[in-house]
Amino acid sequence: EIQLAGRVKALTPSATLAITAKAKQLKAEGHDIIGLGAGEPDFNTPQHIIDAATASMNEGHTKYTPSAGLARLINAIINKFKVDQGLDYKPNEIIVTSGAKHALYTLFQVLLDEGDEVIIPVPYWVSYPEQVKLAGGKPIFVEGLESNDFKITPEQLAGAITEKTKAVIINSPSNPTGMVYTADELQALGKVCLEKNVLIVSDEIYEKLIYGDNKHVSIAELSPELKEQTIIINGVSKSHSMTGWRIGFAAGNGTIIKAMVNLASHSTSNPTTTAQYGAIAAYEGSQAAVEEMKEAFEHRLNVIYDKLVAIPGISCIKPQGAFYLYPNVKEAATLSGFSTVDEFATALLEEAMVAVVPGSGFGSPDNIRLSYATSLDVLEAAVARIGQFVESKL
Ligand code: PLP
Repeated sequence: EIQLAGRVKALTPSATLAITAKAKQLKAEGHDIIGLGAGEPDFNTPQHIIDAATASMNEGHTKYTPSAGLARLINAIINKFKVDQGLDYKPNEIIVTSGAKHALYTLFQVLLDEGDEVIIPVPYWVSYPEQVKLAGGKPIFVEGLESNDFKITPEQLAGAITEKTKAVIINSPSNPTGMVYTADELQALGKVCLEKNVLIVSDEIYEKLIYGDNKHVSIAELSPELKEQTIIINGVSKSHSMTGWRIGFAAGNGTIIKAMVNLASHSTSNPTTTAQYGAIAAYEGSQAAVEEMKEAFEHRLNVIYDKLVAIPGISCIKPQGAFYLYPNVKEAATLSGFSTVDEFATALLEEAMVAVVPGSGFGSPDNIRLSYATSLDVLEAAVARIGQFVESKL
């Protein structure tokens, strides 16, 4: 019998997997399933990016690049930081990675020793705790209360810090809640981090998807001290609808980035060359498509939000960014005769034929996550189905 490594056995299987597998099975059996589980924009990558990547191959750029990424891409990222956030980074403070996910993975590998603690606000993106554990670290969960827009407070943060605390993760706009931290809130959290010398991992992958009067603020913008204390994680996946290209980056302290480059040189060698050329076009070219996609998401959100919260027993804080709704459906589950939201979500799939992700996977078992990265027609049909399902059980 094969004995796998302990670190792999300790991985929690993705909570979304069971329901995704079930949705696939029902679909294969011919059932008309609507899937709202998607974690990626439904738009194709803008054509000028595809063209630039194709041209780069025809021009012979099909070989290894430096492990940190192409100099031209690093410069494009530096310029993006200047334009978007007024931040100045040097080339040795940036590493291009195979997606933002691998930037985070590499970061925790170079940062954490056995038993080091990383504070993870709940609800959280599913990969954070697993990546911390894979690096030998210990996830410390701090609950962002729904009554506080799922955000953690400086008091909560201070209360969770021990002498083992290495870092805290801030993900704004958030997956799964869509909430955005304001500059004041970040300033207050940052003050705690500076006092206690805790690094800030700022996952800004949904930066460009922000709605209404809300603004994206990076905690690194707030002072030179906070910039030095923060590692920013970002990439082209969500902003430019490039999830499959696998290009992300980390920016921050040169010593940390150097260690990440060293590790990358022994693991990925470099992110795919062609994809890097695509990312250069994404950052150097017109940002019109980014804006158009954002507007489409915002329109969808505004149309379906009202319909969703009109369903008995469903309440939802209106998302400010990303492309997820994170309604509290505990009451709807109870009204429909289910003792848990997990069971309610399973019934939604089997009876209403709508696949959603139960909040238990993100650490908050009273909610479900609906992605609106799908067409308005499909979204309206899905919400109508959920409404009919609940009404039929009353
Ligand atoms: N961070 C968050 C919060 C995400 O939701 C995702 C993707 O789902 C990522 C990081 C990873 O992005 P990438 O596709 O660039 O690896």
